[in-house]
Amino acid sequence: MSSSEHSSPVAVITGASSGIGAAAARSLYPAGYRVALLARRLDRITSLADELGDGAIAIEADVTDRDGLVAAAERVKAELGGADVLINNAGVMLLGPFSADQRDDYRNMIQVNLMGAITTTEVFLDQLKDGGGDIVNLSSVAGRTARSGNGVYAATKWGINGWSESLRQELLPDVRVTLIEPGVVDTELPTHITHEGTREGVQKMYDAATVKPEEVAEIITFALTRPRHLVINEILLRPADQLG
Ligand code: NDP
Repeated sequence: MSSSEHSSPVAVITGASSGIGAAAARSLYPAGYRVALLARRLDRITSLADELGDGAIAIEADVTDRDGLVAAAERVKAELGGADVLINNAGVMLLGPFSADQRDDYRNMIQVNLMGAITTTEVFLDQLKDGGGDIVNLSSVAGRTARSGNGVYAATKWGINGWSESLRQELLPDVRVTLIEPGVVDTELPTHITHEGTREGVQKMYDAATVKPEEVAEIITFALTRPRHLVINEILLRPADQLG
């Protein structure tokens, strides 16, 4: 059975173990979506799936591992009938000065933020095309304005923006593509920064964050629930007091 034959559509969310991804699941589920929660931290997505109930499944998956994503897509097909929505949300923001000391961080950001989204989409595309679907890509304000110290993170998000626009043109009208570009949102994103001085500064900014992941999730749900003849292609949002 194709998922589109079932009454409730299926949303696959990468990076569903925390922050915006977990909030998106908590917003979409009561809006009538079944959800496949993908992340590496199985304990977190399992307890979220349990919290949500029937039609929510947890699948341990690393977006840098194509074989794991293929296995995840097979489970989504077998257990939920296939994906109608893919939310490419998994990401890391390993900010710091541009130097050879940070080269593992650069590779990691490109592998997760850019290649992860591209590979997950490639793997799920047939399911999304079957009956019409949606792709939501989490970019950032950093996909629109680069700043000193965020070069490779910005490169991944600028990459997401260009790729999304190309996909939009290629896949219309059957698959809608929506780009979400948030400013500072109160999540654990800065806690993984390896460059100590940068982490402390960025963490202070995040400690004062006013925009909550639930607010971004609400925007994602709004975009997805528009009638199929209409697509919201791009949403740039910031805390009201964020300058850049
Ligand atoms: P979080 O750190 O809370 O969430 C990031 C998620 O990505 C986690 O669930 C994590 O799960 C997952 N993830 C990281 N690496 C991998 C991997 N290799 N494979 C699979 N999943 C992975 O941060 P946010 O919720 O803030 O971030 C979500 C998205 O929003 C990111 O793309 C980020 O760039 C973007 N964004 C966030 C902003 C903010 O200010 N918070 C602003 C602009 C954009 P796990 O570790 O369990 O695998």
